[in-house]
Amino acid sequence: MMKKIADFLVWSFVVFVVFFSCISQAAGKKIQVLIVDGQNNHTVWPKSTQMMKRYLEETGLFSVDIYRTQFTWKGGEFPSLVPLNDGKHYQDVQDPVTDDSFAPKFKKYQVIVSNFGWKAADWPAKTQAAFESYMRKGGGLVVVHSADNCFPSWFEYNDMIALGGWGDRTEKNGPYVYFTDEHSEPIRDLSPGSAGSHGARKPFLIQVRDKQHPITQGLPEKWLHVEDELYAKLRGPAKNLTILATAFSDPSNKGTGRHEPILMAIDYFKGRVFHTTLGHDAKAFEGVGFITTLTRGAEWAATGKVTQPVPSDFPTHTNATSRSFVN
Ligand code: ZN
Repeated sequence: MMKKIADFLVWSFVVFVVFFSCISQAAGKKIQVLIVDGQNNHTVWPKSTQMMKRYLEETGLFSVDIYRTQFTWKGGEFPSLVPLNDGKHYQDVQDPVTDDSFAPKFKKYQVIVSNFGWKAADWPAKTQAAFESYMRKGGGLVVVHSADNCFPSWFEYNDMIALGGWGDRTEKNGPYVYFTDEHSEPIRDLSPGSAGSHGARKPFLIQVRDKQHPITQGLPEKWLHVEDELYAKLRGPAKNLTILATAFSDPSNKGTGRHEPILMAIDYFKGRVFHTTLGHDAKAFEGVGFITTLTRGAEWAATGKVTQPVPSDFPTHTNATSRSFVN
């Protein structure tokens, strides 16, 4: 009798363990994403974080957390929330300072999305080291728009993003990288000069340069992006860089006359980085081309694969589609 009870208890325990490990596996199937933000001169940032969270979660593939810096701005109050006189625009964020408490648990996540921007203060040294270690061991990073303006003097970060702009970047940071025409190979240009420029916001055509990469596979070769800033003159270490897509920077709109990198994939040790220069404002974030490449790029950075189909409303050569975001 005692043996029967003991057997029953053992089997109950086995069933219990199997059952709960199945449940936790099912729950653990979602890709864990962390969006980090809090210091960005682009005043769309609190909203753009919510937009990206929703876009990622709507695919059914991701579970998204947000980690924000404390509002430790010089002067106390958070200045980007102060409207200018017209009541619509917000004052630029000036001189943010390092938030010493900023210490996300990177290891809990398969991919980190950076929604930091121009003039963001350096992360604490300990947090930088933890992030470098996370990335070297196979972490994922998505760099959005002005996140490539950040941290000009953080050596490892610049290796991760490959190319950056502004922040006194010059030839000391690495070459300009661009294409001279629609068919050529990329040029690495070490001529002296500043980094980062853009003209007025306009819709522009994006050309896929790597049709085999998981992020761009199946996209039309050329598609029209909604009104946005077209970043040009980026420069940086550009190591282990694959340029996935470019756009022509038109001299009639303060452009370079070159085909500039727009979507990039970078290998950093065992880690993977997806870098999109798109996403200046809410309109740009609503573009289906932005949304699709963001969610595909995040999946690739996390897993090395992309399982998401190209949506039926993806832009065409002549039609820049968008999805209006309702709070
Ligand atoms: Zn911008």
